[in-house]
Order: sequence, then structure tokens, then C-alpha cells
Amino acid sequence: MESKKTETTNFIRNIIDEGLKTNKHEGRVHTRFPPEPNGYLHIGHAKSICLNFGIARDYNGLCNLRFDDTNPIKEDPEFVQSIQNDIKWLGFDWEDRLYHASDYFDQMYEYAIQLVKEGKAYVCSLSEKEIREYRGTVKEPGKESLYRNRSIEENLDLLERMKNGEFEDGTHTLRAKIDMAASNMLMRDPLIYRIRRKRHHRTGGKWNIYPMYDFAHCLEDSIERITHSLCSIEFENNRPLYDWFLNALDVYHPQQIEFARLNLNYTVMSKRKLLELVNESFVSGWDDPRLPTICGLKRRGYTPEAIRTFSDRIGLAKRQSLVDMALLEHTIREDLNKSAPRVMAVLRPLKVIIDNYPEDLVEEMDAVNNPEDASAGTRKVPFSKIIYIEKNDFMEDAPKKFYRLTPGREVRLRYAYFIKCEYAVKDDNGDFTELHCTYDPETKGGSAPDGRKVKATLHWVSAKHSIKAEVRLYSHLLSVPDPGLENKDFKECLNPNSMQVLKDCKLEPGLANSKPGERFQFERQGYFCVDSKDSKHESLVFNRTVTLRDEWARLQKKKNI
Ligand code: ATP
Ligand code: MG
Repeated sequence: MESKKTETTNFIRNIIDEGLKTNKHEGRVHTRFPPEPNGYLHIGHAKSICLNFGIARDYNGLCNLRFDDTNPIKEDPEFVQSIQNDIKWLGFDWEDRLYHASDYFDQMYEYAIQLVKEGKAYVCSLSEKEIREYRGTVKEPGKESLYRNRSIEENLDLLERMKNGEFEDGTHTLRAKIDMAASNMLMRDPLIYRIRRKRHHRTGGKWNIYPMYDFAHCLEDSIERITHSLCSIEFENNRPLYDWFLNALDVYHPQQIEFARLNLNYTVMSKRKLLELVNESFVSGWDDPRLPTICGLKRRGYTPEAIRTFSDRIGLAKRQSLVDMALLEHTIREDLNKSAPRVMAVLRPLKVIIDNYPEDLVEEMDAVNNPEDASAGTRKVPFSKIIYIEKNDFMEDAPKKFYRLTPGREVRLRYAYFIKCEYAVKDDNGDFTELHCTYDPETKGGSAPDGRKVKATLHWVSAKHSIKAEVRLYSHLLSVPDPGLENKDFKECLNPNSMQVLKDCKLEPGLANSKPGERFQFERQGYFCVDSKDSKHESLVFNRTVTLRDEWARLQKKKNI
């Protein structure tokens, strides 16, 4: 496996260590990642993937990929493929251990028959609505089904006929005979099988009944002899039910350990919500760079390394918490700071004419590719009489603290010269169309021989050498950190400015050959990545991965003061 061992320990690793001391599970460590193929993976899944595959790696164990494909209504082969792509991209490998719950449908059916034969399960013919009514409430015990005491023979006959497709959906179910008065509602005769006369993407028309998640999930882990079933905290209540099934069937019993799900502020994480955003076209697709999906983050410019580091950093807890998006952004920034070449790109161009610069002269300026990495070397950037700078690097009536260009002020052009603003030209609307400046030929490379200082350094590109590109700037998907807290529906809280498209950006010429997925730092602007879907050689499109402003570092500093 590509990813390196992490030093982080956590309560799950402690439990595993303790177990190994007593030779629990014969000293084996075997985990699994069990997605339902009903959506794309998101950063929350990445936490679970890093945890399960990471533990297998560090304990010389194994980790399976298993599709929990027990619900043919919501599943799609498109999701199956995307999930595999995303796990590989994250740097993990299930080798030859790719399994499906549907591989075990025969076995599960045998288990169900075993329960019926031992009087531990029965066919119930209450309607869905009645089942719900009979279940009772947290305060009141439920009522036993009229069908609870059917004979074993009758149960076996009905179950067989359910399987053969003789009955309509919803007419019968197979239920465990446990306790309708149990304080844990999940133990009140839970469903084992329901009729769904629907084709399954792997088993075709073979089955007319499908196992319920709770029955199937613990058996899948048991059949695969998983030692540690790591799952999110909401399954704590299901554990007694899993125990009941495994004990009733007297089969191998994995150890379940629950951990808190990852939640991130300013975004949505549930598959249902993501699906809504995609289906109702609030975003362009599952890989929209604003989404916290793995493919969205990838398209946005995130690296697998950064996502793995983030997963380690957030650690593991038993209690739910909301992680700050600023931490995720800090992590990718840290990674790209080391690896991304620096370039100059002007996002909102303003033309600057250097009046005293020779008409046809072009000088090749030496620019550093990455100050964090000397081996990245330098490159030549052409400089000429007409250049572009950022619109907001100029102000006509500048306040005292504005150190960038304003008439009469001198600034440095990165890797080039000092220039001084003489005057600005406006159009009829009062918008600035060009600046006229003069340069000091003595300041080549960015310093003055007489030692005079300037307070600002601006990035720029030579107008006639520049290439044009579209740049997409992203901000939070939601305009509030936690819609739940404000009792709001998440769709009311979508940030209307989550994407801003700039169509006419000017880039230094070296970027003409950049390839989809390539990442850069645009000096002073942030980290950017060539869009893998819409960018073409003749019309480049860049996504802003993250700005340079490190909110997380700022917050940490504030906390320490
Ligand atoms: P749903 O239950 O709505 O289908 P899910 O997010 O639980 O969604 P699964 O496909 O069952 O989807 O998830 C696969 C695995 O990923 C599960 O073991 C689950 O515990 C884990 N997982 C899902 N979301 C998160 C999250 N936000 N943080 C950590 N682990 C998660
Ligand atoms: Mg789930």
C-alpha cells in the first residue's frame, strides 16, 4: 500500500492491542470497508477508509472491500465503479478481496431457514403500517403480531413462496421472534426479509425477497471472518441485535467497535442530501468541486495525501463533533505549499502601459518555481511594455494603509522592476481601462541600488505573451456552519455565491501546456488546479482549490494567546 504508517494512536488501536495480548481472534486483524452502492463516497467515508485500511496495514492484517448491496431499489453499478475508483485514488488496495453482500444471499437464506426451524423467526402478514403501529413507542411496549405463533411448517412454506415470488411486495415479511416489550426498539421482532420483486444488478431476477440491512450486515462480517467491525456510532443500538442473530445462529462473532462519524461545517455529508443536490441540479454533478465527495475534492485539486493526513489529524472519538472546514483547507494548503509550482496569473486584469519602456523590447525575467523546494529551479517569464495587474491592486483615492498602486506611488513588480503610477484612464462609466506608469531601469530583479524601499510587490503578466483562461473560484457550499443548529433545511442555507466564474483571466505563457489535474500556486491568489472535465488545450479552465489565507492557523494562534 502506498500510504505510510501513521504514528497516531487511538482508542480503537488500543482495543486491538489489548485483544492481541490475549490472542483474541487468534491474533488476526481483519477489517473491511462496507459501502452501500447507493451514492458516491465523501470525505466522511474517507475517514472510515483510512481507518479500516490503515489498521490492516499497520497490524499486518487484511482489509476487504465489500459492497453492502442488499437494497436493489437504490443501487446502481455507476456507484460501484466510482467507489472503487475513489478508494484506489485515496491510495488503498483491497487486492483480491472484493466482495458483495449479494454473494451471500444463498447462505443468508439458509440462515433464515435455520432460525425458522428453531422457532426463532416467523412469517408475519401484517402490513407495513400495522407493523409500525404494533411496534409501540419508547415509552410503551409493542404488541405481538397475530402471526407470531404460526407453526414452523407454515412458516417454512410461506418463506419459500415469498422467495419464489408468489406474493406481492409488502404482503409478508420474515421477522425475528425476540421481544415486543424490549426497551431497545430494534429488538421488537425486527424484520429479516421483505418482499421486493425487483431485479438486482448482480443477482438478476433470482430473488424476490431481500435481507434487511441489520440481518445481512452482521452476517456478512461473520462470513468474511472480520475480526474488528468498525462502524459509526449510530450502530451502537444495533449491536444487541447483531449479537442476537450471531448467537442464535451460533456463527463466528466479530467484535464491533463504534466511532463518531465525521461531520464538517459549511457543507452536507449525508448521501441523501448530496443526491438531492445532484438530482435537483443545485450542483453540476457528484464531482462538482463544491461538494465534499472524494471525486469533487479530487477535481477541486485536493491530493490523496492531504485527505489521508486530514483523516489522521481529526482523530477518532466516540462523541459526535463538527470539524472545522478550515482544518481541511489548512491541510491541503500545507501539502500544496510544498509541492505546487508558483506561477503568475492575473484574475481580474487591468492593463498597465509602461510609458518609458522600449516599444519592442522583451526581457526574460528569472522567476523562482518554488521557494519551499530549491530543486524545483527557476523559469523565464517574459516582460514587455504592456502588462496586466490585478484590478484591485490599484486605487485612485487610496487610504493611507493602501500600499499598492495609486498615482504617484512606486511598487515592485515581482521578478521585474519598480514601477511608479503616473495616471489612470477611465471610460465613460468611470471604470479604469488602463494605467500609465514609468519604470526604473536600475531596479531590474526587484531591488534599487540606492536602497530605497517599496511596500508592495505585485504579480503581473506581459499582455502580448499572456494566455487566456477561465478561473472558477469556490467558497463554502452553505452560508451557515450548521443548518441543523438553526433548525433550517439545508437547502435554504445554500450559499448563492459558492461559485464565481472569471472568464478572462491572464496567465503567464508557460501555463499553456498545463494538463488536467495539474496544480499550481497562483502567486498571492491561492492554489489552483486544471479542471479535469472542462479544460481543453485551447480553452483552459482552472479551479481554485483553496485560498492562501490560513484561517486555521489564525484561529490556533488566537487560542494560544
Ligand atoms: P447511508 O446510511 O445514508 O446509506 P452511509 O454514509 O452510512 O450512508 P455507507 O455506504 O453505509 O453509507 O457507508 C460505508 C461506511 O462508511 C460505513 O461503515 C459508515 O460507517 C462509514 N461512514 C459513512 N459516513 C461516515 C462519516 N461521515 N464519517 C465516518 N464514517 C462514515
Ligand atoms: Mg450506511
